[in-house]
Amino acid sequence: MQSRNSSLVQIDTDDVIRQRLEAERERLKKQYGLSRPDHFQRPVERAFTAEERKQVTILFGGFTWKHEDLIRAVFQGCGYNCEKLPVPNVSAFQLGKEYGNNGQCNPTYFTVGNLVQYLQFLESQGIPRQQILDNYVFFTAGSCGPCRFGMYEAEYRFALKNAGFDGFRVLLFKDSDGIKAASGEPGLKFTIDFGFGMLNALHVGDIMNDLIYQIRPFEVNQGETDRVFREAVDTLCDDLRDRRSFEIEQAAPDWAKPKFKSNKILRNTFNVLGKWHENMWGKDYLDALHAAREKMDSIEIDRTKVRPMVKITGEFWAQITEGDGNFNMFNFLEREGAQVMVEPIATWVAYLMYQAKAHAREKWPVNRPYRNPEWYELKKQMANYFGLRKKLWGIGFGQKAWNYFYHRNIKHLGGLTHHLVDQDELAQMAHPFYNQFARGGEGHLEVGKNVYYTVHHLCHMVLALKPFGCMPSTQSDGVQSAVVNKFKDMIFLPIETSGEGEVNAHSRVQMALGEAKVKAKAEFEQVLKSTGKSLEEIREFVDEHRELKRPFYLVPHQEGIAGTAAQFVLHVSDRMDKSTRFWKRSRVPGIAVPAAASGD
Ligand code: SF4
Repeated sequence: MQSRNSSLVQIDTDDVIRQRLEAERERLKKQYGLSRPDHFQRPVERAFTAEERKQVTILFGGFTWKHEDLIRAVFQGCGYNCEKLPVPNVSAFQLGKEYGNNGQCNPTYFTVGNLVQYLQFLESQGIPRQQILDNYVFFTAGSCGPCRFGMYEAEYRFALKNAGFDGFRVLLFKDSDGIKAASGEPGLKFTIDFGFGMLNALHVGDIMNDLIYQIRPFEVNQGETDRVFREAVDTLCDDLRDRRSFEIEQAAPDWAKPKFKSNKILRNTFNVLGKWHENMWGKDYLDALHAAREKMDSIEIDRTKVRPMVKITGEFWAQITEGDGNFNMFNFLEREGAQVMVEPIATWVAYLMYQAKAHAREKWPVNRPYRNPEWYELKKQMANYFGLRKKLWGIGFGQKAWNYFYHRNIKHLGGLTHHLVDQDELAQMAHPFYNQFARGGEGHLEVGKNVYYTVHHLCHMVLALKPFGCMPSTQSDGVQSAVVNKFKDMIFLPIETSGEGEVNAHSRVQMALGEAKVKAKAEFEQVLKSTGKSLEEIREFVDEHRELKRPFYLVPHQEGIAGTAAQFVLHVSDRMDKSTRFWKRSRVPGIAVPAAASGD
């Protein structure tokens, strides 16, 4: 009895317990090979150096062909060799699965596999592997999550290694650092020309993409839109690539040149202002926009064709790609008689800025420099007040500039493109269903857009394209059932895209589109009836007024009507009525008929 008590006393002391725990932990670590854990280290990559610029080709991809051609032109204009990757297809997806990790979302497989497939293609053309590693780099966006986007960089490296391209360089675009190689000296310089060029390329790419889907469904001569857009994009690319960069030392009058040569600050300041002006208001740039507009305006269209308007939403990549990544959905929809309303990349950027502002405001009680200053501590109160304002004003300026330049490009390219939707309104519409602070993927945008386009009668159907395995889209899909319950008129279809199942997805879209077609037809018939005219009379008037067959003849938007044909018929009817009134008035004796009366 006595010996038992003494052993209890022995292990009851804290020290003994701690020692025994430590010994047991060591034993288990040793047993499971954890005594020296192999922590992950970001691989140190060879730098892409300035000296290599002439021989290295920058690869990139993941947008529409319009965006990609314009982006490539900017790279080339800044002195880089650049090539775009082909549109990812099913075999790229399979390669991504073969060489990548399990359990990724499908844009990862498509994009990673696409890069591997392209490198394999280069090798099949006789380029030795070492030469590929030395003479090509891949340029892509990086993120820290919270969804799998944060893993893309690591996924690229992992798959490249597994495919035998270990050491292939992946350059990341990081908004915090500008553009740098992942390590070492930057070979890709974020210059003013490059920045403004990219801004224009993204905006113009969005606008051209929106326009092609607004014009092609109504073209009279099949294939004309694609041909003309190819020429128009080439015109814009020529300007972005070949325009001479503004340099104050060349542009300044002779008497001022020595001043700019000797004073670096003065030279840099004027160079920034001059480049900004040239990229935004320069004659060459505006001439290129106008030339493209003239080309597009030559396409003959017939807006009396009744087509259901389908708004595309969903995950960033799935709603942009024009290939197997979303089952070639845009082609399919147009073949089935729909008009597609695509989503611009600019909305996503506007969303990021909006979120940055909202987060700054929301986190300020924690982030402010002074926690609870007294009322008389004015300096601290001011620091708290202006600290937040400084952040908000900075982001607010960025938002205003972004919107201004986007809409200005719209104006110069015919004024037909859809404007950016107000982010406040999207967040407010989504908020009862999806908290705007739930981040990842498109966040609350999928829900907000669904409600926005439905309540404003801007489309007949919303089609959300979301990749298989997408975490944020899965969340918003759950929420959409509540949204659809509330808005009974809504035709909403979420489609999960993956490498397989195209036939199944198309058949689901066909069913929903059937309903949307009925909706569009009923709307059109109601509108036509309200005009008191027949479709033949409307068409006859259009034939006599050729400007109505031009894409950039702007039809004023009537609230509550989604269909292009219905909007058009209403407008033509108004013009016919005005024309009739005019002729009646001009026939009153004593009133002369003006020569311009042939218009309205
Ligand atoms: S949003 Fe979805 S599909 Fe896109 S990267 Fe994130 S998890 Fe993947």
